[in-house]
Amino acid sequence: MNPESKTSPDVVVERQETGKPYAGKVLAAIQSHADDIPIFCAGAIARLIDLGYTAYLIQTTNDEKCGPTASVGETILQNEREVDELARVLGFRQVFYLGYRNHLMDEASAVEIRARLIFLFRALKVDTVFTFNPWGHGEENPDHYVTAQAVEAARWMAGMGKDYPEHIAAGIMPHTVREQYYWVARPGQPYNRVVDISAYIEQKIDALCVNRAQGPAGATGSRLRTRLAREGLWLPELGDDDETADRAYVRLFCLKDFETVGQRYGLAFAEPFYYVGSGATFIGGVDASDVQRYIDEHAEPIEPKSV
Ligand SMILES: [Zn+2]
Repeated sequence: MNPESKTSPDVVVERQETGKPYAGKVLAAIQSHADDIPIFCAGAIARLIDLGYTAYLIQTTNDEKCGPTASVGETILQNEREVDELARVLGFRQVFYLGYRNHLMDEASAVEIRARLIFLFRALKVDTVFTFNPWGHGEENPDHYVTAQAVEAARWMAGMGKDYPEHIAAGIMPHTVREQYYWVARPGQPYNRVVDISAYIEQKIDALCVNRAQGPAGATGSRLRTRLAREGLWLPELGDDDETADRAYVRLFCLKDFETVGQRYGLAFAEPFYYVGSGATFIGGVDASDVQRYIDEHAEPIEPKSV
């Protein structure tokens, strides 16, 4: 991403850009649950779509455990509809539901999850992924680390010609994902990059408000307004209707961490990520340009042998 600037020894700031500098590039955001993208990366996704990216949303679980009704079936349906709406408000082109059971992703075949992601990364020609940090401390939810570890393995295996040769026979060619943005989900998880989302904060609020079945926002503001009215109280910020109340609640209480991170770098709002770019995949690798440079500087013509 550009333009980049270092504001501390290790953190790169992605500042606001204009135009469509990333037209032709493709990203996939891979979440376990309906509330993950809204909370952790909605601003950065809205930004990259605005700057030209084509984006796909991949959801790994069926969200059967998190919703306001006792019915498991209705819970799945409400979450699915809200993820469709999330995709609409942020501008994703398509949603893929993998449908693994909520909270139980560690019972699913790691190889199958990885294979499905390899197929999608190849078929969609994904350049950039957003997901959980596969090795982030403090992660309690198996759906999160199982998803992230599958993404991490799939992103390089997708580029290997001998993995799943049937894809190649069907015209789905090897394709390596070059950039990973691991969002910060738990206190203390590392970040080496912050994205200025100040211009996209209304879209982040849209994304948080769509998510009514679970998550910290959704309909919480309107419920608070109703509760206060029962107690004979009101907060002027919550306004006179549910939509105003929901958005105001998000603005007041759900953006604090992103404001704090932003202020550290002179921005109104920022989302933090642990970024891994191309060429940083393993220690001890050989950079082909180093080899060529060495040849250019040191190679000598072979003298014809005298007879
Ligand atoms: Zn989650």
